[in-house]
Amino acid sequence: MATTQPHVLIVEDEPAQREVLAYNLEAEGFRISQAADGEEGLLIVAEDAPDVIVLDWMLPAVSGIEVCRRLKISAETRQIPIIMLSAKSEDVDKVRGLETGADDYVAKPYSVSELMARVRLQARRARPSSMGEELRFQDITLNTETYRATRQDTELKLGPTEFRLLSTFMEKPGRVWSRDQLLDRVWGRDIYVDTRTVDVHVGRLRKALMKSGGEDPIRTVRGAGYALG
Ligand code: CA
Repeated sequence: MATTQPHVLIVEDEPAQREVLAYNLEAEGFRISQAADGEEGLLIVAEDAPDVIVLDWMLPAVSGIEVCRRLKISAETRQIPIIMLSAKSEDVDKVRGLETGADDYVAKPYSVSELMARVRLQARRARPSSMGEELRFQDITLNTETYRATRQDTELKLGPTEFRLLSTFMEKPGRVWSRDQLLDRVWGRDIYVDTRTVDVHVGRLRKALMKSGGEDPIRTVRGAGYALG
C-alpha cells in the first residue's frame, strides 16, 4: 500500500549524510527518494511529488535556496513543506532561509532524532492520514492505524480502494481532486488505470457512505473532479 506511506525527498550532495537520513526515515515507514543535487531534486518533485522535502542548503550548481525559491513560487509545489539544512547557523542565514519560504530550518550538525521529529511534524501537517491520525469530517471518522471508518457511529464497510479514496478526501475537505490526481494518490503512479475507474470507486464509496444514513457528502464538480463537502 505504497500510496498511504508518506513520501520524503532528500536533496543532499553528501552521500554519507543522504544515506543516514534515508536509512532512518525508511525505518520510520517513510517512502524515500534521493537526489544528489538541486536539479535532480526538482525533477523528482515534478515526476513524483513528495509530501515533505529535506533540502540541503549547500548544493552544487542549483543551490538549496534556489530550489526552495522555485518550488515556493510554483502553485503546483508551494504547499510541499521544505525543511532546509544548513552548515551556517548564524541568525542572518536563518532569517534568509525562512524568507525563501522554507517551512523549517535545521542547522548542521543536527541530531538525527530531532530531524526525524521535524519530518514527522511536517508530514502530519501535509498528510494527516498518512501519520495514523484520526480524521473527522462532519459525522464521518477515519483512522488509518486501525483501518476503520465510521459514519454516525456505524462502521463503514469499505474496500481498500474506497478506504484510500475516503482518506484522501478527508485529508483536505473541500479540495477538488481531478480524476488524475486521485489516480496518482489512490492507485499510485506506476499502475495504469482508466480514469473511469475513479468514477466507479467514487460511486461505491458514495453508496457505502449513504447506507449508514445521511446525505451524499461527495460533490461532483463538472469538468474538474470530486470533492468532499
Ligand atoms: Ca551539501
